[in-house]
Amino acid sequence: MQHVLVGATDIRCDDPDQAVCDDDERDYMLEAVRYLFPDLDIGAERVRYRYSGVRPLPRSDADDPGQISRDHAVREDRLGEAPLLSLVGGKWTTFRGFAAEVADDVLARLGAGAT
Ligand SMILES: Cc1cc2nc3c(=O)[nH]c(=O)nc-3n(C[C@H](O)[C@H](O)[C@H](O)COP(=O)(O)OP(=O)(O)OC[C@H]3O[C@@H](n4cnc5c(N)ncnc54)[C@H](O)[C@@H]3O)c2cc1C
Repeated sequence: MQHVLVGATDIRCDDPDQAVCDDDERDYMLEAVRYLFPDLDIGAERVRYRYSGVRPLPRSDADDPGQISRDHAVREDRLGEAPLLSLVGGKWTTFRGFAAEVADDVLARLGAGAT
């Protein structure tokens, strides 16, 4: 095994364009790796690449982002007369079910029925 991907953290972010994996976050993750694998000799010099991705979550007053639900939901707004559906949340394990749910909803609205 040549390389390992390590992640992730739950840091709240107000501006996704400014998101970076800074030294504190790198050190936090290296600390977690050392805790889980105490025999591994791994320091910052072994890190080849860092990146940051921002996961959009539903609005919440939770103090800890880890408490915010990762479930999916459809939010309906209106653009004049037309419904505007926003797909919020979801997971790799549920993306297909979510897509099927929304496709059925849209087909029913169009009067086409589920396939
Ligand atoms: C930073 C981050 C971390 C995450 N971590 C996890 C995790 O640890 N575990 C987990 O289960 N889930 C995680 N997720 C959520 C997971 O990635 C999503 O739930 C999942 O990818 C949704 O799959 P999807 O196919 O519905 O949508 P997407 O993966 O978003 O795919 C949509 C695709 O449609 C394309 N597209 C958009 N508009 C158009 C258009 N007009 N024409 C053509 N193509 C278009 C996009 O380019 C994209 O390829 C994370 C998400 C993020 C952002």
